[in-house]
Amino acid sequence: MLKVENLNVHYGAIHAIHGVSLEVHQGEIVSLIGANGAGKTTVLHTISGLKKATSGTVTLEGLDLFSIDPHKIVQHGMAHVPEGRRIFSEMTVMENLEMGAYIRKDKAGIDADLEKIFHYFPRLRERSKQLGGTLSGGEQQMLAIGRALMSQPKILLMDEPSMGLSPLLVKEIFHIIGQLNRDGMTILLVEQNAKMALSIANRAYVLETGNVVMSGNARELLEDDKVRKAYLGA
Ligand code: ATP
Repeated sequence: MLKVENLNVHYGAIHAIHGVSLEVHQGEIVSLIGANGAGKTTVLHTISGLKKATSGTVTLEGLDLFSIDPHKIVQHGMAHVPEGRRIFSEMTVMENLEMGAYIRKDKAGIDADLEKIFHYFPRLRERSKQLGGTLSGGEQQMLAIGRALMSQPKILLMDEPSMGLSPLLVKEIFHIIGQLNRDGMTILLVEQNAKMALSIANRAYVLETGNVVMSGNARELLEDDKVRKAYLGA
């Protein structure tokens, strides 16, 4: 579904991403793990058009995403849940969710999706009139995911959903990510929490200083000695 080939990205003279290739097939959760500064966020930003690549290609169901205006990519079925949530803090929960549906006009479909999101995140229904900025970190993450879902994506890109959350909340968020996937959502997940990311994924890529150094079945990577030593504190 999503294919990244030989991606190179620079920040000025800094060569941040070195020929990264990866694929996400329909129905998969694919995790991209790596230490601080390995380039995970840069890869996601480049896929969603927020950062320009120096070279390489990104295609979504065969469509060349670099040929599309970044703000139109969502219309082609890709939604990004950014690092740090980036919710609209002066808007209510409901308004944030409605913003996620800004490209849509199907009122009945939007209402049905709102119901679906409130089913995944009952807390958001309870707090639908509360301002986004006053939500807890975990609730903001739920809202960021819900807002992304409101665009009816085919694929969800998630950047560090565990960031800043307590272990219990991380578990809760990952449980919902798993549920979304079982209900059919394709997900590319960037995470520093390698244990959670590998536990939930079908496949994974390990990024080190802008290079993919390992990839494969997530369960096998979870058992791999090198991965355990470098990323799982074993
Ligand atoms: P983290 O988990 O800490 O968010 P990451 O794996 O997502 O890290 P990136 O944020 O993609 O890593 O950063 C990759 C490299 O690119 C780092 O060396 C970083 O310092 C550099 N970098 C990122 N953004 C910029 C920028 N705007 N200008 C210059 N260098 C940048």
